[in-house]
Parts: sequence; C-alpha cells; structure tokens
Amino acid sequence: MSEEVKEMVSEEEAPISRNFIENAIDQDLKEGVYDHVHTRFPPEPNGYLHIGHAKSILLNYGLSQEYNGKFNLRFDDTNPTKEKSEFVEAIKADVKWLGADFEDRLFFASNYFDQMYENAVKLIKKGKAYVSDLTAEQMREYRGTLTEPGKEDPSRNRSVEENLRLFEEMKEGKYADGEKTLRARIDMASPNINMRDPIIYRVAHMSHQNTGDKWCIYPMYDFAHPIEDAEEKITHSICTLEFEDHRPLYDWVVKECEYVNPPRQIEFAKLYLTNVVTGKRYIKKLVEDGIVDGWDDPRLVSIAALRRRGFTPESIKKFVELCGVSKSNSSTDYAMLEYCIREDLKAKDARRMAILHPVKLIIDNYPEGQSETLTAENNLENPELGSRELTFSKELYIEADDFMEEPPKKYFRMFPGNEVRLMHAYFVKCTGCDKDENGNIIAVHGTYDPESRGGNSPDGRKVKGTIHWVDAKSAIRAEVRLYENIVDEEKGVYNEDGSVNVNPNSLTVLKDCALEASLAGVKAPESFQFVRNGFFCVDSKDSTPEHPVFNRIVSLKSSFVLPKQG
Ligand code: ATP
Ligand code: MG
Repeated sequence: MSEEVKEMVSEEEAPISRNFIENAIDQDLKEGVYDHVHTRFPPEPNGYLHIGHAKSILLNYGLSQEYNGKFNLRFDDTNPTKEKSEFVEAIKADVKWLGADFEDRLFFASNYFDQMYENAVKLIKKGKAYVSDLTAEQMREYRGTLTEPGKEDPSRNRSVEENLRLFEEMKEGKYADGEKTLRARIDMASPNINMRDPIIYRVAHMSHQNTGDKWCIYPMYDFAHPIEDAEEKITHSICTLEFEDHRPLYDWVVKECEYVNPPRQIEFAKLYLTNVVTGKRYIKKLVEDGIVDGWDDPRLVSIAALRRRGFTPESIKKFVELCGVSKSNSSTDYAMLEYCIREDLKAKDARRMAILHPVKLIIDNYPEGQSETLTAENNLENPELGSRELTFSKELYIEADDFMEEPPKKYFRMFPGNEVRLMHAYFVKCTGCDKDENGNIIAVHGTYDPESRGGNSPDGRKVKGTIHWVDAKSAIRAEVRLYENIVDEEKGVYNEDGSVNVNPNSLTVLKDCALEASLAGVKAPESFQFVRNGFFCVDSKDSTPEHPVFNRIVSLKSSFVLPKQG
C-alpha cells in the first residue's frame, strides 16, 4: 500500500471509531435536519445522582462541547409527589463538580405547565385527545396484552366540545384523583402498548414545590418530556434504552403538538457497575438501617459519595470514556473505576509517609534527645510537586507487619540481623524487639549507619527491603478508613428477601495511625499517596484539625487489566 493510500485509509477509519450517537448527529447535520446541536440532562429531583447519571451528564455535555452547541440542565419536576428541593441543590453541585457547565442554562420542567396544558387543549381540538372515565383497573383491562389488541374506551368518541368542557372541569378541580384522565387518541390496536391511547394528564390534588396549588392536573412523563425538550429547542434528546419503545409516542407528541424542527430521541445502554448498589430504594434502606453513613457514604457510588471518597472529576470522565456508548446492556467491572482514579492521581498527588498499624522502632545508636531534618521528593514522576522536610530521631514508627521475629523465606523487611533502608533516611540493621508479658511486640530495635544518610549506600552494599516510617515525636495521629466493596462479590448483591447482602469487611476503621508531620492541617478535598498503602483523601464530613480523618480512595495495586479498545 502506498503512503498516500494508507493516509486515506486512516482518515477513512477515523470516523468509524465515533460512537453511534455521534454518527447520528453527523448525519443530521449533513442532511440539514438541524444546523446545531443542543443537548440536555433531565434529572428528576427525587434522589442523589450516581455514577450512571455521571455517564449521561458527561455524554450530553461532551456532545454539546464537541459540536460547539449548547447544554441544558433541566429538572424534570413534573411529578409533585416525590420531589424535594434538597435534591435540586445537591444535583446542581454534582453536575458542576463533574465540569458540565450549564451556566445560565438551568431549567425546570414545571415552568412549562402552561404550554403542556395548551398543547393538551390543542390535541383535544384536533380530535387527538379525549377525557376518559375509566378507573385505573378498567384502564388495565382495556389496554390488552402483547398478543391481544386493546379495547376502545367508551369515551373515545366524545365530541371536541364535551372533551374541552370536561378537561376544563378537571383543571378547575371538579373531579377527585383518578376520577378522570385525558388520553391521547392514537391506536388501541397498535402492537406497541405505549401507543394504545396513553394517558397524558391525570387529576392529582397535590401542591407542587414550584407551582404551589395552581394545578390539580399534572402531565404524564411521556407527554411532558417531549414538550420540555421541544420548548427548549433541544435537537438530540438522549435517553436510556428502556425508552426505546416510547420513541413512537415521543415523535407523535412533538408532531401533533406541531413543533417546528422537533427534537430527536436517541437511546443508549445504561451504565451498570458490578458489586455496587445504585437503586435508590436500596440505598435509602441502607441509610435508614444505619448500615451506611448517609447518601455520601464513601462505599456508595452516588456522585457525592465518590467525591467524598476522593475520586476526581477527571477520573470519572476517563472511566465514562473507557466504558464507551453502546446499544446493549452490560456491566462494567468496579476495578475499572479504580484503575481510572489510580491513573489520574499517580502523577498528581504528593507522596507522604503514614503508618497505619504503628509499632515503635528504636534506633539504639542514635543520640538521645537529638533530631535532624531530611528532605524528600514529593513525587518522583512529577518534579513540579517539589519536596518536603521530614524529621528523623531516635524513636520512629514503622508498620507492624514490616517486622517479623521469625520471617518466612523472601521476607526482606525487618527481622533480627537484617538491614533495610528507611525510605529517604538511613540504612538500619534490626537487632531485636521488646515484648510485653503476653508476648506482643511493643518495640523493635535497630542501629543505623550514619554514613547512609538519605538512604544511600555508603560502600556499595545492598539492602533488599525499603520500608517507610514516621518520626514518633512529631507524628500526627489520625483516623484512617479502609474500604472494600459494600457488596460481597461471591454472594451477589441482593439476598432472597431483597435486602442488600452487605460485605462485613466493607469498612475498617483504624483509629490511631501515625502520619508524618507535614500532613498537619490538610483539608478536604486534598489527597495524597501514602507510600505503599494507597491513595488517601481527607474526609470532607468528619475530618477536623484536632481529629484528622482520611479515606482510602484506592490501594496501589490491582489485578485489573485494561480491556483492549476495539
Ligand atoms: P428513576 O428510577 O427515579 O427513574 P433514574 O435513575 O432514571 O431514576 P432520572 O433522574 O430520571 O433518574 O435520570 C436522569 C437521566 O439519567 C435520564 O436521562 C436517565 O436516562 C439517565 N440515567 C439514569 N440512570 C442511568 C445509568 N445507569 N446510566 C446512564 N444514564 C442513566
Ligand atoms: Mg427516571
């Protein structure tokens, strides 16, 4: 193949790696269906956003950026029963944190109740909607099944005048909840049940957080949503696969309501993660049962929880990109999310020494009452992070498992007679340990080689182990929380009775960790690599200067292998 041909091929190939949504948008722009791109994220303010919503946010926002278009954040607050303004603020904060900038493009679906009502009247006048007297139960009976067509509603052929009067009366509050509904007049024999004269308005004598008592009729989702999109001049209304069967109704609504250049619905597969709990119902139960510490418990995957755990927007962006956009449902391994945060923090975070399970190390030949200052690089991969000073003295802390009195083969850390490197400090030879009356090790002893300052070999002799340490006197005390998946990998997410099968080891609290003094006064959302122990962040909820609390974001190692990108 000539160079020229190769170039053409790779140019040809480039667009193929675009996802199916981009392809559809490209096509629309090419054919002049739209001359711009305008997307939206439409959460219902009835709970906290989770990692799946992050996918939708970043997908919609990303498309608006890619095509130099616009992005709306719209609260789908048409349902007066479940919505809370508390969630509105939390969702706004989460969307902002993810970097999806909605600026002044913040909307509330309830602001279109007038337009929805007018559209309903328009449909009645066109003979495309009618008031029904059927009860919910009768409605089900008349609906038919997947194999049988539905039956016509006895009210289906009411006159336009009668329908207008009845709908007006519904609006005026003449009917009780459930007594009357407004139905679209489409096709009771349609193979698609969604098209069998769906209800578009119901009576509900409820106040709404935004419109108060103005309305006692409320639009149904399938009628409201396309109108919201059309009112905002959205071009591509991106939603999840379960709405695929609703698309004909979406198209019907915008057509019959006579919107010019109406939006187009495109569906993609939801993001599912293994070994996590995303269902609002289950999270609510975990919160109520006190199994987790609120919706932002770091073991959960709400965006608030991920933020508290120490995930960064960049890591979530990377994760969503790796997941890709697909038309078929599948689950993604939680380990991939961990891979993304590790990759992101590797070069960003300063390294620090922190002892999670402290045991004292006494350097017997170090002068009593003396101390010195050593300098340590913050991150060898990123010199821009500079360096910090460490205090070294006679009494230090090391990890309890970095000493063994009787080591197994291939154990290269502290044991009597063995020499190791104390990171950034000195070579130290272990001489033994002290025990209490029960045989517990209470201190390890060693002697240092003053010639090895900085951890460098004075005479070319080698040590096989390098361990971390902190100076005992200047160390700060902290609580450190370690996490595992909240759900037991082996046993599945839910028990037979529907309760969550909680992993008993999902949270380990270490109350008395010893941290190097440079960590004094750090604040959330700062994060660090604690050498050999993982990435940790300051807990935004419980950490105080007097009682610092750190969360382990992720450990340093994993068996996760990035899948090949197709
Ligand atoms: P509910 O069960 O209350 O309907 P929901 O998760 O669908 O909850 P919405 O507020 O309706 O919550 O969702 C807002 C947007 O996020 C919708 O466009 C929805 O399709 C999308 N979304 C929800 N869950 C996921 C997911 N797991 N992956 C990708 N997108 C999602
Ligand atoms: Mg929903």
